[in-house]
Amino acid sequence: MMSKRKGDHRYHNKVPPFTPDPEHYTRKQHTWKAKVAYETEDAAGEFLNQRAELKAMGYGVYQCKTCQKWHVGRVKS
Ligand SMILES: [Zn+2]
Repeated sequence: MMSKRKGDHRYHNKVPPFTPDPEHYTRKQHTWKAKVAYETEDAAGEFLNQRAELKAMGYGVYQCKTCQKWHVGRVKS
């Protein structure tokens, strides 16, 4: 970190200066985190098959418009 100015701590709790796509990012406390991406639908489905609790919560596999990869998340019906 080169030009670290004093007083920057005021901005720590702000969200990033962009509108996160909820398909690609997941909310983590005060920030957004990119979701785990899978190269193929099969890879994402394999992960979901090991997480029965997520399936029970309505999670599914979907292709992301932001990164064109596959995520596991709550899918709208
Ligand atoms: Zn994505």
